Amino acid sequence: MFVDKKLVPGSELLSYALSNKIAIGAFNFANTEVVQAIVSAANVLKTPIILQASPSAIAYLGTQYLKAIVSVAAEESEGPLALHLDHGQDFEICKRCIDEGFSSVMIDSSSLSFEENVRKTKAVVDYAKKFGVSVEAELGTLSGVEDGTSVLPGCSFYTNPDEALEFIERTGIDSLAVAVGTSHGSSKGKNGNAKISIERLREIRKKVGNFPLVLHGASSVYQDFVDVCNKYGANLKDTCGISDNDIREAIQNGVAKVNVDTDIRIAFLSAVRKVLSENTSLIDMRGYLSAAKDAAKEVVMRKIKTFL
Ligand SMILES: [Zn+2]
Repeated sequence: MFVDKKLVPGSELLSYALSNKIAIGAFNFANTEVVQAIVSAANVLKTPIILQASPSAIAYLGTQYLKAIVSVAAEESEGPLALHLDHGQDFEICKRCIDEGFSSVMIDSSSLSFEENVRKTKAVVDYAKKFGVSVEAELGTLSGVEDGTSVLPGCSFYTNPDEALEFIERTGIDSLAVAVGTSHGSSKGKNGNAKISIERLREIRKKVGNFPLVLHGASSVYQDFVDVCNKYGANLKDTCGISDNDIREAIQNGVAKVNVDTDIRIAFLSAVRKVLSENTSLIDMRGYLSAAKDAAKEVVMRKIKTFL
């Protein structure tokens, strides 16, 4: 039923993470090189992983290529892994991914009203349960911090702990993405002040108990990779990530899955830019893609080490 018989439902990995006080890295991919890098890093560090694809990544690769690549990844992977849909925007895409053999999906209706979010999420859960597929949903708003807006605890952008409990009970989801101060992208706040509100996480945990929480937008935005990008022609400004300490503390407070996308993109880009700049007559794509794959592997290993 799943893309590969070695895939496991996301919830299995997350309960393993919760009971071991670690987080599972959920790595976005849109090409073969990145999948190879992720699996290779996971095999070195002997840890389970989640491979995840956004709707635009699925469109970019094509479903059949994606399934074939993930099936090979599952065979190559020494530990268990899940295939997850990241930010599914409606029932249709979630259903399609479940039908195609994903072992986990996210329905993101967080921009809608609470009641609408409950209704849309519950519909996906009802369908997914028939196939043993796990469901992640989101409550709260991450994007408010992206513009450098200062969002204080108690503000409505953060996930409300009472609503979180009600949402989990009414929808039957397996994991919940929370808004606790992180944001998507490479610029998480001016002057390096991007912070996770551990206090808010604790409040949520007090309400929902031992339930797997998910952290989006927690890229580290490693300065060494940013520097290489900029040295070789990029113009990445106002870059700012989340500190390893914040991520570790979040994991101690119920975060069982951490999404990673931006960090892989920056590492990949840094290698492509460097190799192409230093080898202006290079035309063999393997020249820069193998360097990019190595950089992606290095960054995935760094992230996994933070999660264990
Ligand atoms: Zn996200």
